[in-house]
Amino acid sequence: MALAKRPTTDLTTQTPFQYEAAPEAVDHVRIAGSYDLFIGGRFVAPHSRKRFATVNPATEETLAQVAEADEVDVDHAVKAAANAFRSWSRLDPGRRARYIFRLSRLIQERARELAVVETMDGGKPIKESRDVDIPLAAAHFFYYAGWADKLEWAVPNRRLRPLGVAGQVIPWNFPLLMLAWKVAPALATGNTVVLKPAETTPLTAMLFAEICQQAELPPGVVNVVTGAGQTGSMVVGHPEVRKVAFTGSTEVGKLIRRQVAGRGKRLTLELGGKAANIVFEDAPLDQAVEGVVNGIYFNQGHVCCAGSRLLVQESILEPLLQKLKVRLGTLRVGDPLDKNTDVGAINSKQQLEKIEGLVESGIEEGAEVYQPPCELPARGYWFRPTLFTGVAQSHRIAREEIFGPVLSVLSFRTPEEAVEKANNTPYGLSAGVWTDKGSRILWMAERMRAGVVWANTYNRFDPTSPFGGYKESGFGREGGLHGLLPYLDVD
Ligand code: NAP
Ligand code: MG
Repeated sequence: MALAKRPTTDLTTQTPFQYEAAPEAVDHVRIAGSYDLFIGGRFVAPHSRKRFATVNPATEETLAQVAEADEVDVDHAVKAAANAFRSWSRLDPGRRARYIFRLSRLIQERARELAVVETMDGGKPIKESRDVDIPLAAAHFFYYAGWADKLEWAVPNRRLRPLGVAGQVIPWNFPLLMLAWKVAPALATGNTVVLKPAETTPLTAMLFAEICQQAELPPGVVNVVTGAGQTGSMVVGHPEVRKVAFTGSTEVGKLIRRQVAGRGKRLTLELGGKAANIVFEDAPLDQAVEGVVNGIYFNQGHVCCAGSRLLVQESILEPLLQKLKVRLGTLRVGDPLDKNTDVGAINSKQQLEKIEGLVESGIEEGAEVYQPPCELPARGYWFRPTLFTGVAQSHRIAREEIFGPVLSVLSFRTPEEAVEKANNTPYGLSAGVWTDKGSRILWMAERMRAGVVWANTYNRFDPTSPFGGYKESGFGREGGLHGLLPYLDVD
């Protein structure tokens, strides 16, 4: 019997499924008109008397006014943390663990509220904040709570001492998750904290402050001072801050390193990246396409470890690009609160302008741009999923961190060439390898200067696994057993 021939369809002209709007309810969320600083276990009005607005980047509406901490406010916060350190550092570790477990449980209990506020304040799709950011933040507290009374097994036969007050400054791309990465290991090791959230996304940190009250955490163990870069600089520079933990751009990381040089502070820096996601010709292409999409369009590409440079073996460049373009056409861009949305709003106007400028440079330097046709909402900050082909290693879009949904595609012929191109960057945070061969994964992982190498997957996170960079991506590790060490003096 002859088999009927299937009609061929041109996939690029297919329209994606249409879905009814499925917005997440927001009526259970209360956002206050204005937020004070959280110092010594209480919400206190700022000495500066200044406030700034945090907006919803999907609507451009102001969500709340937030306090801007000045030098006096930061000093109060550090003093409160230093006071609390005396008893917190001597507390029975089992009891310390119980407080941290409680924080984790309360994050879980308030998960839906936290997810909605994270999405409203930062523009990320609700399915991400609901399924990734908030569960991982809770998991981080849960994991480090487990370490609090087992530190002598983490570093056996050594004397361990907490450092004192940790000054922690975090970015806007994963606000509550970055808070968890910083606060959980600091508390587990007996330190106290002054945290400065990012200017555009302070709200989940304020909810976390409420959670600290709910958990009856001793006053001053966690303090939250909101403000702009200047406030961050005051936290970092305060003489009683013994440990500085910073996540953000390489540019600011360099400023901070200069600021603390010679002042006896411990420092960890988690900075930018320009990761290579490398697809070999023997890779399962459909899975690789999913991994590439996840690698660069997840969280609008506002991801330090985003796979922003796609390196494809030349023999499969055409079929892979064809599949990738089809997949791009099915990404739903729009209302971050809609449960079907894949790509939400760009976090701020400033970030949108930065992305637009870099994309413009790519076009000017001669790369070829592709964007699927998709409608963007009239208000808010948006950018279409974008990919560039014909990219040279010298192009700015191949060298600089764009921190947006923009992929630069390059090709290679041999594994040696792939390694050389992957390492041809000032950064070294992460990389991805797609191949059928286990031996090749190991061969590549050994040669790439990247803190994390994902194999046949991308953007996977787990609190037990250390994360951090080489070269201009910073130093120090967060997560896992390694994440305890930056908060301990080991004799
Ligand atoms: P950023 O401009 O460096 O800001 C990060 C934080 O530092 C914010 O809270 C910021 O306050 C504050 N800040 C600014 N200037 C400061 C100064 N002179 N002293 C002390 N603090 C200062 O970075 P971003 O644009 O928010 O975040 C994006 C960057 O973070 C990207 O480069 C990304 O790769 C990196 N990142 C790295 C990791 C990692 O684990 N390696 C994770 C996530 C993000 P304002 O908010 O007021 O500016
Ligand atoms: Mg905001």
